[in-house]
Amino acid sequence: MLVAGSLLTIGCEEKKQASANNFDYTVEKFADLQILRYQVPGFDELDLKQKELIYYLSQAALEGRDILFDQNGKYNLRIRRLLEAIYVNYQGDKNNPEYKNLETYLKRIWFSNGIHHHYGCEKFAPGFTPEYLKEVVLSLDNTQLPLTDGQSTEEFCAEIFPVVFDSSIMPKRVNQADGEDVVVTSACNYYDGISQAEVEVFYGNMKDSNDITPISYGLNSRLVKENGVISEQVWKIGGLYSSAIEKIVYWLKKAEGVAENAEQRAVINKLIAYYESGDLRTFDEYAILWVKDTDSRIDFVNGFTESYGDPLGMKASWESLVNFKDLEATKRTQTISDNAQWFENNSPVDDKFKKDEVKGVSAKVITAAILAGDLYPATAIGINLPNANWIRAEHGSKSVTIGNITDAYNKAAHGNGFGDEFIYSNTERNWVDQYGDITGDLHTDLHECLGHGSGKLLPGVDPDALKAYGATVEEARADLFGLYYMADPKLVELGLLPNEDAYKAEYYNFLMNGLMTQLVRIEPGNNIEESHMRNRQLIARWVLEKGASENAVQLLKKGDKTYVVVNDYQKVRQLFGELLSEIQRIKSTGDFDAARTIVENYAVKVDPELHAEVLERYKKLNLAPYKGFVNPVYEAVYDADGNITDVLVSYNEGYAEQMLRYSRDYSSLPSINN
Ligand code: ZN
Repeated sequence: MLVAGSLLTIGCEEKKQASANNFDYTVEKFADLQILRYQVPGFDELDLKQKELIYYLSQAALEGRDILFDQNGKYNLRIRRLLEAIYVNYQGDKNNPEYKNLETYLKRIWFSNGIHHHYGCEKFAPGFTPEYLKEVVLSLDNTQLPLTDGQSTEEFCAEIFPVVFDSSIMPKRVNQADGEDVVVTSACNYYDGISQAEVEVFYGNMKDSNDITPISYGLNSRLVKENGVISEQVWKIGGLYSSAIEKIVYWLKKAEGVAENAEQRAVINKLIAYYESGDLRTFDEYAILWVKDTDSRIDFVNGFTESYGDPLGMKASWESLVNFKDLEATKRTQTISDNAQWFENNSPVDDKFKKDEVKGVSAKVITAAILAGDLYPATAIGINLPNANWIRAEHGSKSVTIGNITDAYNKAAHGNGFGDEFIYSNTERNWVDQYGDITGDLHTDLHECLGHGSGKLLPGVDPDALKAYGATVEEARADLFGLYYMADPKLVELGLLPNEDAYKAEYYNFLMNGLMTQLVRIEPGNNIEESHMRNRQLIARWVLEKGASENAVQLLKKGDKTYVVVNDYQKVRQLFGELLSEIQRIKSTGDFDAARTIVENYAVKVDPELHAEVLERYKKLNLAPYKGFVNPVYEAVYDADGNITDVLVSYNEGYAEQMLRYSRDYSSLPSINN
């Protein structure tokens, strides 16, 4: 997937004028977060059956929220429920600074779906004391607290407080540190009582290197060791998370009844069968049906999908996205996918790693109708699924760019001073002003629609061979594929770029972000952990170093400020191509040692001096480095017979209001899930 990476989004003045329609994109700001809202243009023009379908799928989407909280850490639901009980019921002084900090802490937990930062993975430090929290908890009625059977308030506090306050307990949700047992040291709830080595042996024994259509081992289960026995607790009806999955399936069955066509009905039906059985072969059958359904206007993701939250990259967090095709904007991505084979054939990677036949890269621009699970409130702006390599190779993949989300980012960022502070000169600023939006969208399209879908593994190579480095390498591959082609005259020829200078906006943005400005998301002293950020620094640092002898890119000081200067854009393109070739080789051959070396050398460590400078300059701009969204509210209108006669969409809900509503109406899991 692609997360909004470049913090720089500049729209031209004209565009801003044209869209001045009184819609307020901003909701609120706290900690390092800004909450935005997005519009769903085109919803009102859908027909009733389509609206009904979106409504049911949205309900199915919201029902999975608690699953993600529990996946992200086994105390998350209890801590969230405790803080919500305080937020709703506490009668004491709500202007007290400690209370204010407690409120911020809860808002951050809502945002992260747990007690760790959604992006950096470190545990939040609460801005209030255990004594204060104890006093507040004791002022509540016992029945308002998420106590387990027979537990006293005292026992509850003794169990939960260390998790909240002791920084040495569960310090990281996902730990990627080289040389450590990443399973034992990660707080995510995908493994229990088991070591990394045991996990690797367990799944290693299951895998058959001759199987050319392997299931996604471990995708939908927690792996536990009890009384010396290792087993999977599968997430399905009758298994782990059953009560939430039953609700999801209830709404999916309603959706099935109003599907647009037989193909879509089959997709929904197969997904239900998978939720009922937990069988990963059924999941693959579902994924294949889903890839082939390209004609439906409405589409959705609902399930255990991406594995960024597992240090070993096997177990998938729950997410959902309901959307419909933006017919006009999809013409752009259609052009790209129509030419997919040309791009594959002409890429700079070794011929033996190329796909002979690029199958069914279907690309579209979509309008998000609801974001849920691991796509809420922070969301990707592009998605490419399914993830199984053999399905992509044999049946293709679907690639989407989320148009209304990108648009909301752009509108909210306009004129925020970021470019003035960090861009080197007027030349680059003009490029970015003129072409930054188009090239940003186009790079996202190329990343999703061609990059992830390109290349192949050599026969017998384990798709998980790169282990903890796999995600970074995969994202780098997709980004590089897009970057390499951004500067290709073919894009101008296809009418995707207006001229042969436009790509420079994306090159400049990308390098500035990877070398400098993405560091605003990292706390002083920390390394880079998140795989998209690692990938961007890897590419930018590698190009800086390899182009040094020819001065292709430099970090230049003007006064006490550092700037990225690109002296030779064509050389940069050549280097992107060389790195793409090497990264594809690493992926295709499963070269773990090379993956580790390149990631550890370029992607992880941060220059502390430059970091401090970037943070200082960014701070003065008073911006939030991370953004997320509240959803629209959908209301079904029923007639006397219980039939839906209309679905209304509104945009007035506040952040806390929405979170509390979700916790009230879509929260069917117990506080402890074993
Ligand atoms: Zn990606």
